Amino acid sequence: MLENLNPQKVFHYFEEISAIPRGSGNIEAIGGYCMKFAESHGLKAIKETCGSVIIYADGTGGYENCKPVILQGHLDMVCEKRADCNKNMENEAIDLRTDGVWVWAEGTTLGGDDGIAIAYILALLDSPEIPHPPIEALLTADEETGMTGAEELDGALLSGRTLINIDSEEEGYLTVSCAGGVRCCCEYQLEFTDTEDGMCAVDIEIDKLLGGHSGVEIHKRRLNAHKVMADVLNYVYKRAPFFICDIKGGSKTNVIPKSALAVIVTKAENKDTVINAASEYFREIFHTVYGSSEPEAELTACESYEPVPVRHMTADSTRKVVFTLMNSPDGVVTVMKDNPDAVLSSLNMGELCIENDVLKTGYLIRSNSQGGKTEITEKLSAFAEYLGGKAVFDSDYPSWEYRESSPLRDLMTEVFVEMYGRLPVVTAIHAGLECGLLGQKLPGADMVSIGPDIENVHTPDERMNIGSVMRTWDYLLAVLEAIGERGKK
Ligand SMILES: [Zn+2]
Repeated sequence: MLENLNPQKVFHYFEEISAIPRGSGNIEAIGGYCMKFAESHGLKAIKETCGSVIIYADGTGGYENCKPVILQGHLDMVCEKRADCNKNMENEAIDLRTDGVWVWAEGTTLGGDDGIAIAYILALLDSPEIPHPPIEALLTADEETGMTGAEELDGALLSGRTLINIDSEEEGYLTVSCAGGVRCCCEYQLEFTDTEDGMCAVDIEIDKLLGGHSGVEIHKRRLNAHKVMADVLNYVYKRAPFFICDIKGGSKTNVIPKSALAVIVTKAENKDTVINAASEYFREIFHTVYGSSEPEAELTACESYEPVPVRHMTADSTRKVVFTLMNSPDGVVTVMKDNPDAVLSSLNMGELCIENDVLKTGYLIRSNSQGGKTEITEKLSAFAEYLGGKAVFDSDYPSWEYRESSPLRDLMTEVFVEMYGRLPVVTAIHAGLECGLLGQKLPGADMVSIGPDIENVHTPDERMNIGSVMRTWDYLLAVLEAIGERGKK
């Protein structure tokens, strides 16, 4: 299917590996393929217990005595398909398609993320005529589901300290920093009491906010449905008192919540005031302030179809929930000093529920610096403790901090300018990359992440640009040559 595309060898290997199902957790076969490749090319290779493969190749073309360069990508891919696609991605190959400009897969994800890294690496190791320093090719296991391969890497297997990660999706960008993260769950004990006669239940629902990814979209400052709900309830409470029975919202810490639901009870004679006040808040305040940035947002407030709940929070607990959600830290906390669109530290209150009379709010905290993460964990613990709750942290993973001095970044910038006559975009991403963990395993490693243009990754609309694959290949080879030249001196 791809045999006429250039660079031929790269697309040859891309097609070969596309025939191997390799969703996260199903990487035995692709790992085996890479080991077999090494064996048939006379290259030393190791397969780690977690499934990662490392292939070692000597330097060529006069660069034999240089220090090794680590080329890195991940073996697994995200398996997503269209609703009408019957493919079993566990054991059936994807169906490659091309129109000469793009490559995609019919009905499924393509796995350009990160199959292109494997294809580049195998094509390089299969081309004795291409000059390069010694290569340590690190193909990690299960990046997409918790970065297992990077987490479990035995750093002693790699002697290189110059690492090119090929897992970015925009040509002309050199990524030089990524965010680390930690999850936090805050818990607040609430008091409930039995519902008296003569009460009426009202459902209030916020829906159709834009939401988004809590890392790469946090700078867009989209509204958090949990906080909008708290603002609505606060406004209503001043006009007619009520008690909260239940409140809930998003269920993933890394997704900005789009909707939230509250069930409240109030005296029957206050029912209309409550409903009208909620609508009034939305019309008079929300729409005037946020109408243009959240055009689809909807609020519904109506008498509940369900029976009146038999228990509700006390007035104190009701006010505590509203106050906690309104005032909880959330969103962008700090931006980088020379680029206000580049977020340094953030958090997202992505989860909200009541469980066993306890209010639970779940957050994902991210920062491109270790200090930034600590700053937020301190703030959040203090906030929760002052309100009589507690903050519990887990799943901590390290950031890849920007290096003031990076010979690799300088060299890759120089080569880019020579090839294209313009500067590459040197950037930090506010999401996770394996480089955070790899930096811990390989102390002092100088790293840059690159990749060709791939659109709509992790969706069935994923597609990879052929011209960009070609240019990124030429660029990678030029970078390896420049590293070799420098290493000779
Ligand atoms: Zn990837």
